[in-house]
Amino acid sequence: MALGEFELIRRFFDRPAPGLVRGIGDDCAVLAPTPGHHWLVSTDMLVEGRHFLSTVDPEALGHKALAVNLSDLAACGATPRAVFLALALPRADAAWLEAFARGLFQLADAHGVALAGGDTTAGPLNLCITAMGEAPAGQSLLRSGAQPGDTLWVSGTLGDARLALEGFRGTVSLPSEAFAATRLRMERPTPRVALGQALRGLATSAIDVSDGLLGDLAHVLAASNVGAELQADALPRSAHLAAQPLHLQRLCTLTGGDDYELVFTAPADGDDAVRAAAAGSDTSVTRIGRITAEPGLCCVDAQGQPVRAPGASFDHFRQT
Ligand code: ADP
Ligand code: MG
Repeated sequence: MALGEFELIRRFFDRPAPGLVRGIGDDCAVLAPTPGHHWLVSTDMLVEGRHFLSTVDPEALGHKALAVNLSDLAACGATPRAVFLALALPRADAAWLEAFARGLFQLADAHGVALAGGDTTAGPLNLCITAMGEAPAGQSLLRSGAQPGDTLWVSGTLGDARLALEGFRGTVSLPSEAFAATRLRMERPTPRVALGQALRGLATSAIDVSDGLLGDLAHVLAASNVGAELQADALPRSAHLAAQPLHLQRLCTLTGGDDYELVFTAPADGDDAVRAAAAGSDTSVTRIGRITAEPGLCCVDAQGQPVRAPGASFDHFRQT
C-alpha cells in the first residue's frame, strides 16, 4: 500500500516535542518565548543536484539539512528551540524516509531541539528547514560588531569538506583514510552550537563558514565597516589537509565552503576569556588575525608576505 501524506508525517516525523506548547498536528505550532529573550530564526534550503546528489545517503542528508541550520543559530549565539521541515519528495519511499528521519532526529536530540512542524508535498527532492532559537535580549552575536583592534578567531579546522569534494571530483587522489575522514566532515558537519552560546557577551561579531572563509569574513568586514589582516599560515587544518601541497591547503582553507566552523572577533584583551569559552564548550579555537580600521582583507603568510587568494568563495549565481 502506498504511503499517504498524513500517514507519512505521523510515521516519520511526529515525535514528542519537548519544550513546545503544541508541536505537529495543528494548523500552527505554539511556542512560548522565554521571558527576556529574543527569537532568532533562520532558513536554509537544500536542492537535489545543487547541494547534494540523488545518490546521497539519506541519513547523512537528514543530519546535514539540520546541521546547516543549527550552524546559523550557533553563529548568532542562539540556543536552538524548534525546527520546521518543508519537504518535497518524488515518492514516499519508507526506507529513505526512515533513514532521513534517523539522521535528522539524532542531531535534533543531541541539541534538545524539537521538530515543531512543516509541510510535505510531492515534487522534485527539495528540503527546507527553518530553525528557531533564543538568546537573552541584546546578546545575539551579529556580523556588525567587529571593532578595529579586535582579534580574529576560527573554531575547529578549515578545508576538509573542500578536500573531500576535490577527492570526489578526482582532482586529487586521497589515501582512503583521508578520504573517509574528510568525507565525514563534508557530509556530517558539526554545528558549533555550544561555542556560539559560550561566546555571548564576549565575541563582538560572528559568522559561520558555509561558503568559504574569505567570502564569509568579507561579510563581517562589510557589516562592521572594518578591515582585517588574516594569517594564512595560522589557519587550523587537519593532518589530512596538512599532508597536501601548500597551494591546495590554501585553496581549501581560504575558499573551501561547507566547513560550518565559526569565525568570530573578540576584544584584544579577551584571549583568556575566548580560550575559557572554547574549553567550556569542548571546541578548539585558533587566533587567525586581527581587525583593522582600514577596510579590505589583507591575507599574509608567516613571513608577512601577501598571499594571493586562490579563488573565489562559493556563490550560487557566479560559479567557476
Ligand atoms: P495544513 O494543511 O493545515 O498546513 P498539513 O496537513 O500540511 O497542515 O500538516 C499537518 C501537520 O503536520 C502540521 O502540524 C504540520 O506542521 C505537520 N507537518 C507536515 N509536514 C511535515 C514535515 N515534513 N515535518 C514535520 N511536520 C510536518
Ligand atoms: Mg500544510
